[in-house]
Amino acid sequence: MGSVDLHIHTTASDGTFTPAEIAREAGARGLVAIAITDHDTTAGLDEALEAAKATALKIVPGIELSAELGSEEVHILGYYLAHHDRILNDKLDVLRRARRDRARKMVERLRELGMPLEWDRVEEIAQGSSALGRPHVAYALEEKGYVSSFNEAFDLYIGVKRPAYVPRYKLTPVEAIAMIIAAEGLPVLAHPWGQERFLPELVEAGLVGLEAYYPSHTTEQTELLVRLSERYGLVPTGGSDFHGYGRSVGDVLGMVSVPMKSLRRLSALAMNRASTRG
Ligand code: AMP
Ligand code: ZN
Ligand code: FE
Ligand code: FE
Repeated sequence: MGSVDLHIHTTASDGTFTPAEIAREAGARGLVAIAITDHDTTAGLDEALEAAKATALKIVPGIELSAELGSEEVHILGYYLAHHDRILNDKLDVLRRARRDRARKMVERLRELGMPLEWDRVEEIAQGSSALGRPHVAYALEEKGYVSSFNEAFDLYIGVKRPAYVPRYKLTPVEAIAMIIAAEGLPVLAHPWGQERFLPELVEAGLVGLEAYYPSHTTEQTELLVRLSERYGLVPTGGSDFHGYGRSVGDVLGMVSVPMKSLRRLSALAMNRASTRG
């Protein structure tokens, strides 16, 4: 069991534990430092920080921004974020509104296809998630009996190139990196295996780290990524991508062991950044 886990989701996006529960659970598991990195939202951070206040657990305020490059999904983590930053939160609001409008369009297409859904129900299923989207529409379709399973909803209707699919507005990774830097954060490429070719462009844009330690990476892959980090002068970071027990990605909090040295390097960069800003 590692003692540092820098990639964790809460109910503020698509995790099953509330931010306070994550803080409690991390403490119980003997973790010394964690980062909360919800998808496209800072909404869970204050609750987590508050819950850890009187404990030994350190919480790094973070985020995971979804972006797209050449039709590939690219995720950029941001650490030591000034998470109350107005411009950052305004931009996140715009992204959330775009998600909502797009989901409504899909519901409209489904109605035209003879499968009316109640919009209020879709929103209820999403429970205020920052990642309102196809998974919630899929559950609503299943609930109505229009499909026999969650996956079938994608296969028949809302998967790419299916009749009710509407693409969603996506940031480019360079835009995501700029958003994080503008809010004093440190941008890191999440689960980078297979996306190494993007590194020159992302490093040029200000990337400072690479998520080398990740549940789906083999030991060999992790070693290669650590070496790649060295070559680019990046900090090798990592985390479990915890979403909840029994969930498909990152099902055990702290299951990935991130060297303390990585955290120290990150926090040193954050301090430096703060002092040069004055
Ligand atoms: P969205 O961001 O609204 O386009 O939804 C993307 C999410 O939908 C992904 O993170 C997956 O959880 C889920 N998803 C996408 N494609 C499929 C698929 N073919 N089968 C099952 N789930 C999928
Ligand atoms: Zn997620
Ligand atoms: Fe991700
Ligand atoms: Fe994640």
